[in-house]
Amino acid sequence: MQTSTKRRKTRRKTQRHGTLFALLLFLALLCVAAGAVQSVQRAKEKETQAPSFSPSEPTDIVLPSFPLAAVPDRKDPLLLLVNRDNPLPADYAPELTRLSDWDLSVATVLYDDLCAMLSAGRAEGLRFQICSAYRTRDEQQALFDEDVARYMQQGMTEAEAIAATDRYTMRPGCSEHESGLAVDIVSLDNQLLDASQEQTAETQWLHEHCWEYGFILRYPSDKGELTGIAYEAWHYRYVGREAARYFHETGMTLEEFFAQPQS
Ligand SMILES: [Zn+2]
Repeated sequence: MQTSTKRRKTRRKTQRHGTLFALLLFLALLCVAAGAVQSVQRAKEKETQAPSFSPSEPTDIVLPSFPLAAVPDRKDPLLLLVNRDNPLPADYAPELTRLSDWDLSVATVLYDDLCAMLSAGRAEGLRFQICSAYRTRDEQQALFDEDVARYMQQGMTEAEAIAATDRYTMRPGCSEHESGLAVDIVSLDNQLLDASQEQTAETQWLHEHCWEYGFILRYPSDKGELTGIAYEAWHYRYVGREAARYFHETGMTLEEFFAQPQS
């Protein structure tokens, strides 16, 4: 009898423990479920929040130097556009000044700035050679014919030779050199008109500073399709100091500038 009473007591105890354990388990599951709901809500909130900005984070924004150069006047005669589609009038006759050191001439309007640019470079130990400046239409014609003849001597047909010449040499009437506003400047120690010019200290200095004196590199390496002329590391075009600053800041060519819609 005593034994059976003991057994009943033990069974009741076990039942109570089982109920307690089930209750605790239920509560624990409830807590886990509540936590999961909260974290989903937090994740949703994060998604809808605007991305935070910390001032110490590096950004890609590069502020330009101020004040920016004014947009040049399209009618400025220094911005004269000369290319295959825009030949010079046959009677175009710029006022010229002689460059005594090289037996060449340039448009008088750029003479002072050209001298200032070359003097500044010389003061840094650089030695320049101007290999081309103003050309008459006849001289441009002779230059073109000469290049065609040279290519034909190398075995090209006349059509191939003309196409090859067109890549670098403008046809008569279409060369900026006929305006007197262009100069080809190279290093005295390397007068080759090819890619090696880019390696000379003189050309590197001119590429960096020419805009300060009113010149732009007229045929950049990445703009051949726009200018119609392959890269010429030595050909500088005078546009005046203010306009040169604008072209330097925007990276535009004259062709791109005139293709912009007028405001
Ligand atoms: Zn040139």
